[in-house]
Amino acid sequence: MSEPLIVIENLQKSFVHMGRRLDVLRGIDLVIDQGEVVAIVGPSGAGKSTLLHCIGTLDLPTSGKIKLAGEHLVGLPSARLAAIRNRTIGFVFQFHHLLPEFNALENVMMPGLIQGKSRKEMEAPATALLNEVGLSHRVTHRPGELSGGEQQRVALARALVLSPKLLLADEPTGNLDSSTSKAMHELFFEINRKHGTTIVVVTHNPSFAESMPRMVTVTDGRIESDVRRGQSPFEAERAGAAPEARAEAQ
Ligand code: ADP
Ligand code: MG
Repeated sequence: MSEPLIVIENLQKSFVHMGRRLDVLRGIDLVIDQGEVVAIVGPSGAGKSTLLHCIGTLDLPTSGKIKLAGEHLVGLPSARLAAIRNRTIGFVFQFHHLLPEFNALENVMMPGLIQGKSRKEMEAPATALLNEVGLSHRVTHRPGELSGGEQQRVALARALVLSPKLLLADEPTGNLDSSTSKAMHELFFEINRKHGTTIVVVTHNPSFAESMPRMVTVTDGRIESDVRRGQSPFEAERAGAAPEARAEAQ
């Protein structure tokens, strides 16, 4: 069985704010396998975003261990962390952060262009992803010419364009109406099934959280519960296609 994608041990994160120490993550232990789809839920201020930022190397833990794709993150120099982030992780946030002066295709190509890849190289994967998120008819539209749901789908395509192992999404449907967010959630499952991308998504949407194969509840900086209800679409497909692989894994 391949090793877990994420291993977190006794993760603690404190902020100092106005001279006072705030203990936001207070001993998180969490293991996430490759190909899982995991919802993170919990009250506002519980530390969900901070946890996602620590996993995503955007924030440095105060103490504890995080192992991502076999590599210990804590203590690595920032250039090394950036390289790991660029190679391994895609992000989707509540606000899409698309560049307003560039069209959908250019926005999706951007992570590759920033890393020195050519337009020619990026055009095929970016076009394929826009197609996958159902926006093949919107490639030349700028963000201002797209609906909120379409903008968020462009952001999702951009997050996936360098084929990350891990997609981290922080309330990606926080600004969308319910039918648009349902379509977005279905897209997450579809991406997982097709690409095997491990997905960790913070959500306030109870029906989405309930539909997830695994739901982790964070309360007051600790994991209150961690419930597995089933397999992710990718895990289910792999198990169905190769029962002997499943037997081996046990
Ligand atoms: P959640 O995403 O669960 O709503 P957060 O992880 O965003 O919670 O925040 C948890 C707590 O940490 C909050 O009280 C928040 O104010 C505090 N916090 C988050 N980031 C910082 C920061 N950079 N400096 C100081 N306090 C912070
Ligand atoms: Mg948050």
